[in-house]
Amino acid sequence: MERARPVVVAGAGMAGLTMALELARRDIASIVVERAPRLEEVGAGLQLSPNALRVLARLGRLDDLKARGTVAETVTLRRGDTGRPIASVPVAADDGTPYLSIHRADLQAWLADAVAASPLVDLRLGTGITGVTQHGGGIRTDISAAGGDGSLHAPLLIAADGVNSPISRMLGLGEAVATGALAWRGRIADLSALPPPAGIEAWLGPRRHAVAYPIAGGRETNLVLIEPATDMTDAADLARRFDRWDRRLGAMIAAVGSFTAWPLKGVPPQRSWRHLDDRLILIGDAAHGMLPYAAQGAAMAIEDAAVLADHLDRAPSLPAALRGYEAERRPRIDRVRARVAFHRRVYHLPFPLSLARNAVLARRSPDSLARDLAWLYDWYPPRG
Ligand SMILES: Cc1cc2nc3c(=O)[nH]c(=O)nc-3n(C[C@H](O)[C@H](O)[C@H](O)COP(=O)(O)OP(=O)(O)OC[C@H]3O[C@@H](n4cnc5c(N)ncnc54)[C@H](O)[C@@H]3O)c2cc1C
Repeated sequence: MERARPVVVAGAGMAGLTMALELARRDIASIVVERAPRLEEVGAGLQLSPNALRVLARLGRLDDLKARGTVAETVTLRRGDTGRPIASVPVAADDGTPYLSIHRADLQAWLADAVAASPLVDLRLGTGITGVTQHGGGIRTDISAAGGDGSLHAPLLIAADGVNSPISRMLGLGEAVATGALAWRGRIADLSALPPPAGIEAWLGPRRHAVAYPIAGGRETNLVLIEPATDMTDAADLARRFDRWDRRLGAMIAAVGSFTAWPLKGVPPQRSWRHLDDRLILIGDAAHGMLPYAAQGAAMAIEDAAVLADHLDRAPSLPAALRGYEAERRPRIDRVRARVAFHRRVYHLPFPLSLARNAVLARRSPDSLARDLAWLYDWYPPRG
């Protein structure tokens, strides 16, 4: 790939920042354009599985990242009504790579610190992308910033602009689609009466589930309640909708100061990723945003960055790099999507099917449950 001009990366989320750092590791310069004027607290907690952490570990300062989050040993599935454990799945990898829970803002700040230390990344906050066109064998990106409008000319534009991707709309790819599910996200800052969960805990019930885990280095608890979007009324009603659930979960709901409603959207699996004669590629949620039921959206965005940087570094041409990238990533993304669909069915089973599910899971050993996800968590980034 031509290296004389920097690549443009749209969006300074998980995909965009990791992308810039993975390019910099290969001496490829980039300009990261982010429309938000500051990287502030957007989003809530994230689980980061070993497949994603192996990419981040190569950027250095893993101990600092671990200190901003909490290492989880297990994911415990519980009955929604009683809270009794159904199964506990070990999640730490055999090679010692941890499974972390962390606030999205803490991960983003950690990535932004690495970006600030890299002479090969030019991060431009408060700069939105308003247009993209093929131009003179490359791509022209029109930008709008407080200091004035302008354009950037680059060999490649990497669109990492999230599930609502304005660039996808500019390309006529349509909107992200409603999934029919809604997430309520909240945090518990006062843990004096309610100790943080040990690892990741999930409560399963008909049509709904809840997930809790520590964030902010264990000083807070992140709580997510997922329910059908049609039930959305207001947060004040939430406690009533979960009032027949485990009392400990009820206490957590009561302890959350305020919940934020998060309608869950997804990108259709058939969305094409390569555009404008291979001068533009979509990555992260812009390419394949999906329901968070396998906790893999950010992880896939981070994996995308490592794999794309590798292809851009090694392939003989830009089209070859983008083709090679897509051929490698599509099957994995499809497999994760299938797992998400499986979790959606299984988590929300009604009675009495839920009893059968619980009985089947209870008979499985923790090791055999962990083996189900080995293909996902035992992924290694390309060398380089
Ligand atoms: C309830 C919930 C729970 C989740 N839990 C997990 C989890 O446990 N583990 C996990 O791995 N994932 C999880 N996810 C998914 C994860 O949050 C996303 O997959 C991830 O943030 C996607 O990263 P991204 O960089 O592609 O997009 P984003 O993080 O959305 O970043 C996109 C960036 O692009 C910027 N941008 C947009 N338009 C423009 C423009 N025109 N010009 C310039 N900049 C622009 C935005 O401001 C933003 O900074 C969860 C999601 C939800 C909703």
